[in-house]
Amino acid sequence: TIGMVVIHKMGNIAAGTSTNGIKFKIPGRIGDSPIPGSGAYADDTAGAAAATGDGDILMRFLPSYQAVEYMRRGKDPTTACQKVILRIQKYFPNFFGAVVCANVTGSYGNPLPCGLTGQQVHNSQCPGGEAMSVLVVNYMCILYLTKQLFLFLAPGAACNKLSTFTQFHFMVYNPLKSEPTEEKVDCI
Ligand code: ASP
Repeated sequence: TIGMVVIHKMGNIAAGTSTNGIKFKIPGRIGDSPIPGSGAYADDTAGAAAATGDGDILMRFLPSYQAVEYMRRGKDPTTACQKVILRIQKYFPNFFGAVVCANVTGSYGNPLPCGLTGQQVHNSQCPGGEAMSVLVVNYMCILYLTKQLFLFLAPGAACNKLSTFTQFHFMVYNPLKSEPTEEKVDCI
């Protein structure tokens, strides 16, 4: 599966997947990838996520929807992804799967610093629940905030650790990069 999360400079966010499914699948199997909330999910007011792995397990948990809801409640993308993986792991310790997460700030790791100006959203992680800026205003704003973000960079992805699957690699592109760069996370 190829999962993708894209944030438009005006703040709109989208997610999508493309997949060949799994080996030896039963004819007619749909899998998780085309199911909203499972393979991918996006909400302009929170963030977006996409999942890959054992679709027949993943689809029981709507992992992409769950990740977006965690981000809506103030979790940073990395934590949101991890919480989703841990939830499935509790029931299926040996499932194969990974999730990528990004929020509407364009952060795919830790949250942006608090107290910047711009469109305000509530961020429970800021002192006193203070508002946090998001990069929806214009292109310059994206550039500015993205520079700040680099100071706090951490990948927004998580995967379930198996003996055969210990790291998950994913690509990140933003306006400050001339080309997409590869990031990786250790599975949990
Ligand atoms: N999730 C896909 C499926 O089960 C497979 C994949 O992610 O590679 O159809």
